[in-house]
Amino acid sequence: MSTEKALIYFVITIFSFFGPACSKKAQYSGVADLVLLNGKIVTVDGNESIAEAVAVKFGKILAVGTRDEIKGLIGRDTRIIDLKGRTAIPGLIDSHCHITSTAIGMIGVLDLSEEAGVRSIADIQMKIAERAAALKKGEWISGVREDDYKLAEKRHPTRWELDKASPENPVIISTVGGHFSIANSKAFELAGVTRKTLDPVGGVFDRDLETGELTGGLHETARGLIRRVMPSRKELNREEAAEVVKKMLLENAKAGLTCIYDNVGSSQLKAVLDLKNRGELPIRFRVDFGIGHFQEMENLGLIHKPFGDEWVKICGVKFFFDGAISARTAAVSEPYLHRDNFYGVMSTTEELARKTLMQAYKAGCRISAHANGDRALDMYLDIMEEIQQKYPRDDSRNRIIHCTVINPEIVERIKKLGLLPTIFGAYPYYHGDKLIPAFGEQRLQRMFAARSFLDAGVVISANSDHDASPFPPLMGIHALVNRKTKAGKPIGQEQRISVMEALKLYTINAAYHSFDEDLIGSIEMNKCADIVVLGEDILTVPQDSIIHIPIDMTIVDGKVIYERGSPIS
Ligand SMILES: [Zn+2]
Repeated sequence: MSTEKALIYFVITIFSFFGPACSKKAQYSGVADLVLLNGKIVTVDGNESIAEAVAVKFGKILAVGTRDEIKGLIGRDTRIIDLKGRTAIPGLIDSHCHITSTAIGMIGVLDLSEEAGVRSIADIQMKIAERAAALKKGEWISGVREDDYKLAEKRHPTRWELDKASPENPVIISTVGGHFSIANSKAFELAGVTRKTLDPVGGVFDRDLETGELTGGLHETARGLIRRVMPSRKELNREEAAEVVKKMLLENAKAGLTCIYDNVGSSQLKAVLDLKNRGELPIRFRVDFGIGHFQEMENLGLIHKPFGDEWVKICGVKFFFDGAISARTAAVSEPYLHRDNFYGVMSTTEELARKTLMQAYKAGCRISAHANGDRALDMYLDIMEEIQQKYPRDDSRNRIIHCTVINPEIVERIKKLGLLPTIFGAYPYYHGDKLIPAFGEQRLQRMFAARSFLDAGVVISANSDHDASPFPPLMGIHALVNRKTKAGKPIGQEQRISVMEALKLYTINAAYHSFDEDLIGSIEMNKCADIVVLGEDILTVPQDSIIHIPIDMTIVDGKVIYERGSPIS
């Protein structure tokens, strides 16, 4: 144990030993490294207390209280930050995302998002044609973040439209959310996939309904049939990977995130650990590993003796049950309204899911399964009922990633099984306008169902699923509180929650999802000093402007890592 850590443990032990017996004043002793004074500290503790000031020592919260109480902890070397009435909240936590893989994966691929200036199929064609002109014949072109609803045509390009831009180079583009891709004819040819190719297990090729011809769309595992013939991309070296990940995590910090719960493979985790070992990891990191890494993790002994500390921790394994909400391919029991006789796509069979999850759970893994639609949820719940009964475990905290289209029975079963859903935060706002014609306003009243879960006493958290939606957590809080689309249309208003409830989804509830509720998620004594200072008061600002609140400062482990107006380091 390092000297610094030993000291921290000493301080914590002293507090926990004397804590209950001492007066409040006596607890507040010592000299702080940092104090925040004259603010409105929204602690998100069990009583939803509001304080005026907070003191930090060795990266931990030394005290939270009135201005006078905290002033007594100021010494010669204490850094004093005068909040001048501004609001401070606990560091925000994104409970499910693909942030590091996005950071590493964006290198060398075309960004086809609206944010990158793509507004029509012609724009996509132009970007692809430009890339093709710079490549040799036969070299692959990859694009990401295409979003049909953000295109003027309100649809995806077909394989033939991609052929026009690139007849000689194979092309595959992924849509936002990642569960659906589109390939051109050259890509199908190189992969040996024709109209006679059967749909793979857990996947679908889009076909012309009359002729059966492939139209370019690839759902779920069908993408793998094309990708398997792509040469592996030139990997970033370790140093480069760590640098791009660091840059991305600093951007996260700028948005008020102090911890992300990411879905990773080995190279992303390696980059994060490299940063940690160099003392350069900006924010905390929680991890779900893809189920494909289960054997590797077991061989390394990471399941029985979980790996992690306050900064980086492996939490569970991720398994996929169905498609995506943004692609409108989630497996639902009632058909989509924008497409005839379409019920979404399952990405597994019940048999495969049962076998895989049973093996992982028996070995001691926590399960974090992606299930969006009610059809996928029913299958996941059936399997978890069986698994948890067969291998009972105290406080298992298995998760449901997204858990989007629910009904009262599903909520009841989730509560009974003690499962923890992490729902989309920003979706009702960011993707809302394309969801209304696909799902219908009635069904949207039971989607992203924050109100239903909270009323039932289910501990939900919220996520961006970045890059499926932007990562700023204030966009998520804004969406959950207002339930209005980007165009201003109400969307499933029955599921609205209060600002304090939404804050909890991004703080203490999120901490609970990774067994961190005693460590992070609120501004309370002995917890890690992860604090965000806001430019406006989130509790009193008009609710429809929450999304515009500036992040003034982000503090992680007692260290100011972002300050508005200062260059980010
Ligand atoms: Zn995801």
